Amino acid sequence: MFDYNGSFQSAVAVLKREHRYRVFVDLERKVGQFPHALWNSPTGKRDVVVWCSNDYLGMGQHPKLIDAMCAAARTMGTGAGGTRNISGTNRALVELEAELADLHSKEAALVFTSGYVSNHTGIATIAKLLPDCLILSDALNHNSMIEGVRAADCSKQIWRHNDLKHLEELLCRAAAGRPKLIVFESVYSMDGDVAPLEAICDLAERHGAMTYLDEVHAVGMYGRRGGGIAERDGVMARIDVIEGTLAKAFGTLGGYIAGRSAIVDAVRSHAPGFIFTTALPPSIAAAATASIAHLKTSGAERAAQRAAVAATKAALREAGLPVLDTETHIVPVMVGDPAKCKQASDLLLDRHGIYIQPINYPTVPRGTERLRITPTPAHDVRLVRQLADAMVSVWHDLGIALGRYHQPGDQRAQTVAAGG
Ligand SMILES: *Cc1c(COP(=O)(O)O)cnc(C)c1O
Repeated sequence: MFDYNGSFQSAVAVLKREHRYRVFVDLERKVGQFPHALWNSPTGKRDVVVWCSNDYLGMGQHPKLIDAMCAAARTMGTGAGGTRNISGTNRALVELEAELADLHSKEAALVFTSGYVSNHTGIATIAKLLPDCLILSDALNHNSMIEGVRAADCSKQIWRHNDLKHLEELLCRAAAGRPKLIVFESVYSMDGDVAPLEAICDLAERHGAMTYLDEVHAVGMYGRRGGGIAERDGVMARIDVIEGTLAKAFGTLGGYIAGRSAIVDAVRSHAPGFIFTTALPPSIAAAATASIAHLKTSGAERAAQRAAVAATKAALREAGLPVLDTETHIVPVMVGDPAKCKQASDLLLDRHGIYIQPINYPTVPRGTERLRITPTPAHDVRLVRQLADAMVSVWHDLGIALGRYHQPGDQRAQTVAAGG
């Protein structure tokens, strides 16, 4: 008889052997004390400082969001009660979509249950609605985009990460009248680098291609109103579809696309990941709207984040830690070995009360394992000092050499492209 259990056990054993078995850290976030949280450790509750949260601006416990969420739940209840088509379209969600369309200066926006779903079903649906569409996808795109491209079931080409020459080559090779969809991100979440949006728009316009941009790691944080890198670079109007999340800098849950009415209406009408699932509850929609509205006019969070990021980068570099150069709020410290990366994370948590999840394959290519640090407005100079000291001590304990990180170059992109 077939050994079902054995199959599952060996699937996990492989991960353990390669030091990439995922162990979740059981946390209780404490309102008013971010980035401090309680860790339910094997020996009981302990206070830790979280340095790897995607609640980039600490909005997840902003009083305006908590009030909006509680008020909506009290007046409109907990769940949406149905799919968008069958009784689930609630007033708070309609308001959220208007707020998002305004944020990106687009005709319309559509909310999904997560950023993952918005990419997966959004990309697949848009590509399927275009006859004989060719998708051109950046090699380092997030898994949700890779899966969306796969589900589109049309021809695709992967362009080397942020390599305009390669993208142009591929565009030139495609027939002039053929529909083409360029799929890419603005801020890449693991290396913290930024796509040359203006040049990509130039290429897209020259070759009659449509653009689909994931701004998940940029919305709320870049641009005058938090509209993302496209707003910062003045190219929002030139991007056909902007995709974002409500779960990172906006501090709640959900994903969305924004674009011309015709595109949004077509996705609304055809995307299975939108149609066949229950709508977001009003409480979450109301909190997300409060967050977006706040960050449209308040630059204080963005300024404080930039200051914390600069202080963290400076302190870690000065301590001799191999920080990957980035121009964004993402601060990767390279380890380059899966076992050491996990051990470094464990020691930081156990001995220093500092929580930074190790990032191993397949999230990043093998050999580029790292600790990915995300300073927020709440990480003050004292916490930064403590972090630098703790990391130096851990590097010493594990016998990892200090010094500058040397990027392995093109190899990165190719490993991921092959895997994706
Ligand atoms: C996190 C992430 C997503 C998914 O967003 P969720 O709202 O968390 O599902 C999409 N794209 C990128 C680049 C991401 O990092």
